[in-house]
Amino acid sequence: HADWRGLRVVVLGLSVTGFAAADTLAELGADVLVATERADEEYARLLPVIGARLHEGSLAEVPDAVRAHRPDVVIASPGFPPHHPVIRWAAEDGIPLWGDIELAWRVRDKVLRPDGRPAEWLLITGTNGKTTTTQLTATMLVAGGLRAAPCGNIGVPVLDAVRDPAGFDVLVVELSSHQLWYLGRADPAGQPSPAASVCLNLADDHLEWHGSARAYRNAKAVVYRNTRIACVYNKADLATREMVEDAEVVEGCRAIGFDLGVPGPSDLGVVDGILVDRAFHEDRRTAAWELATVADLAERDLAAPHVVANILAASALARSQGVEPVAIRDALMTFRLDPHRIEVVARAAGITWIDDSKATNPHAAGSSLAAFPGSVWVVGGQLKGVDISDLVADRGTGVKAAIVIGAERSAVVAAFARHAPAVPLFEVIATETEDVMARVVELAVGVAADGDVVLLAPAAASFDQFASYADRGRRFAAAVHEHFGRGDGDH
Ligand code: ADP
Repeated sequence: HADWRGLRVVVLGLSVTGFAAADTLAELGADVLVATERADEEYARLLPVIGARLHEGSLAEVPDAVRAHRPDVVIASPGFPPHHPVIRWAAEDGIPLWGDIELAWRVRDKVLRPDGRPAEWLLITGTNGKTTTTQLTATMLVAGGLRAAPCGNIGVPVLDAVRDPAGFDVLVVELSSHQLWYLGRADPAGQPSPAASVCLNLADDHLEWHGSARAYRNAKAVVYRNTRIACVYNKADLATREMVEDAEVVEGCRAIGFDLGVPGPSDLGVVDGILVDRAFHEDRRTAAWELATVADLAERDLAAPHVVANILAASALARSQGVEPVAIRDALMTFRLDPHRIEVVARAAGITWIDDSKATNPHAAGSSLAAFPGSVWVVGGQLKGVDISDLVADRGTGVKAAIVIGAERSAVVAAFARHAPAVPLFEVIATETEDVMARVVELAVGVAADGDVVLLAPAAASFDQFASYADRGRRFAAAVHEHFGRGDGDH
């Protein structure tokens, strides 16, 4: 632990990730100050126990306590944007600035490991489908007999997975564009070298944080850096292919494509309703390249095109670790999508009510609208600097009606006026969070007919009116159940 003992570190943010960073560093003997605007009580109580100090207060300017600590390195929780005052100060003063992923990579063989062998890393990013693909990949690896853990942006800090005394063979790491932005500035010692990596797709999101679409794209591209075995890309999304072409990878690393079409010799795809892997199979004469059938997936509500795409990407990552097709099939037979991802919350009055609250950007909402054309679309929220017009032009014209919620309603209404003027529009002006979804359901009942779908796919973040996308989805479901009376729906 020689290089860590006495290292002066400022950790920014005291979320689950900030705490994991402070805990790791303190264990290695570093001198840790955690700076945060508002400390979570539980974590604040634990800091002295693990041997780290806390500075709580505004970070609008660099606090004296942070300057006085004279950090050798600053660790930023993923929420801190490049233009944050403390981040700018660190950059201008030439203080190394690491994200939690870089820290996790640097310590991966320094912390508790019973077998002394660090786990392989698989990296997953993309505008949409990250969490689903991360869970799919981990489930496939486990079905293939490997000790694997999903971690990263999915909610379990990579640092916690790295330090888990159980020890893992493979870490399946979901990375946000924010975490990748920090990795993009890492020096070689802090740059992960994953076994395989994927950027699932690319569309505008988080533009306020990154400053531009170009910066967002450049951050995402970092996922492929230093990959050793396979860079997996989406053949239906040229941007991901270009990222692989431009990436600096380890010699011998292959580019493996996936899409819903017939696969080429280094790809995964779909032939006659069967998902197939032509990239990793050993013997082309056997059926070993057949992974699953679309019909089987449909029985488990896993056949929406974007879900099949995620399954193919996950299969490529799992196959890179030697998982057999039969194990992939087993994994799919037990897999369930998480809540708030095209989740049917009720069938009532002949209407199917679908919660896709996790569709927090236009690209995600576009994939659900494609799966449910002609639905009554509940849309709006915090747009994060992303333009919704293209989505309204592409998919909005096909909806039966739109119910517009959220603080940035006027942008949505303007997009409809311009690109889909014939679609009936209803605005929900409710100011109390309580009222929003009750009003949505009332309006939807008024316009939806027998056989229709009401689809909550807001194409926007939830924070203007709700605690989170999950809160937004739960309130939608609750309002539906409230309206129809819990037992009355036929779901
Ligand atoms: P993320 O972790 O990237 O937010 P999730 O797996 O949680 O992704 O899915 C988020 C939403 O994105 C889903 O509700 C779905 O509407 C949409 N989605 C999922 N996968 C894809 C995909 N491959 N392409 C387009 N949209 C997708």
